[in-house]
Amino acid sequence: MKGFAELTNVDVVREKFFNLIDKPKFQRKEKVPLMQSIWRVLAEDIVSQVNIPPFDRAAMDGYAVKAENTFGASTTSPIQLKIVGAVDIGDTPTVTVHDGEAVRINTGAPMPPGANAVVMAEYTEKISENILEIYQTVTPNKNLAKAGEDVKKGDVVAKKGTIICPQDIALFHALGIEEVTVWQKLKVAVFSTGDELVEEYNNLSPAKIVDSNRPLLKFMLQRDGAEFLDMGIVPDDKDELKKTLLKAIEQADIIVTSGGTSVGTKDYLPLLVSELGSPGIVIHGVNITPGRPVALGKIKEKPLIILPGYPVAAFLNYNLFVRPLIHYLMDSSYRWQPYEKITAKMATRISSRPGVREFVRVKLEITKDNEVLVHPIRRRGAGILSSVTKADALLVIPEDSEGYDDGEEVIVELLRYK
Ligand code: AMP
Ligand code: MG
Repeated sequence: MKGFAELTNVDVVREKFFNLIDKPKFQRKEKVPLMQSIWRVLAEDIVSQVNIPPFDRAAMDGYAVKAENTFGASTTSPIQLKIVGAVDIGDTPTVTVHDGEAVRINTGAPMPPGANAVVMAEYTEKISENILEIYQTVTPNKNLAKAGEDVKKGDVVAKKGTIICPQDIALFHALGIEEVTVWQKLKVAVFSTGDELVEEYNNLSPAKIVDSNRPLLKFMLQRDGAEFLDMGIVPDDKDELKKTLLKAIEQADIIVTSGGTSVGTKDYLPLLVSELGSPGIVIHGVNITPGRPVALGKIKEKPLIILPGYPVAAFLNYNLFVRPLIHYLMDSSYRWQPYEKITAKMATRISSRPGVREFVRVKLEITKDNEVLVHPIRRRGAGILSSVTKADALLVIPEDSEGYDDGEEVIVELLRYK
């Protein structure tokens, strides 16, 4: 492809790009209050200092007993026990259970000393004020939660790299952890380039278009736990571009720009970057469609990604390079792939140019028989932003494929995250 130094496979490109970067430089720890740590990435393992539950407790409403005293009990041959007290949730037990005795207990209440099982209330009958009949045999530890059953002191409950989710906060809170050590948010400077761009629809004039990439990138970055540094719209002017670029390098960890990556007469950015420092742009052009003219590089130790201006291309390349970069630098581990893949069936035939990896935006239909049908969105161009908002998923047609037949089984990547 004329004008591009190379057009390489996405996976190769990503590895080459990541290899440029000195990861430890981007990993800076900070302590944050647990309740403000949602979606942040743990920078240290979390080791429990306590047991939970902290004490043996009843897992059912009923009676705390010595299991041995219940052996042989059934509906036809009940066993009688003496009720010697009660423990409610939140109470500290004051009675001890001896042979032949039972203590009324509610779910969650601490087990009284001497007892090692709970007979569920349903299998008992109080036949007088303090005499209980039980109709079921229980084995030791039946119907109770042992201390440390959930988490034992010393257990690693979450590993470095975990993206903190609501269930993690619940557990850490239960363990008495009030602060966690996370990686500082990566600062990502973003600017859009193009003489045709305006901030808002209200400012439109003929031949101008609204900058839709900056809001896209702002919220994508927010979702990926990075900090968005807004550098605005920069015209296609070498001096202005240089000034903004230098400011971005100064203030941010990563620089993401959009527009001006092609070989148009005003596409200064890639050249400018390479002029400013070594190695500059390392990859220009990737074997995908839409989104081919992305440029990747490094300037003054900061990774830099120049996304193509077309909104779909910007979106796809963000997913292919920016998000993975952020998670690579934080060593963050997903609980599932950000783009979960499912098997589905083509509802129609689709053809694609061999030699490139195509990302087709598709709608999914679930049939009565729970089959997932894939309906490609007809407008496939890089400028069709509405195709991304309409889409449920991406159909990735690999380099060695010319497309798929009607009814053929394919894999699609769901466009949902977290
Ligand atoms: P470029 O990559 O600068 O050649 O731009 C390719 C196409 O994307 C052109 O039609 C631009 O007008 C459009 N474009 C560039 N930047 C943006 C942006 N920030 N928001 C929306 N469209 C853009
Ligand atoms: Mg442009």
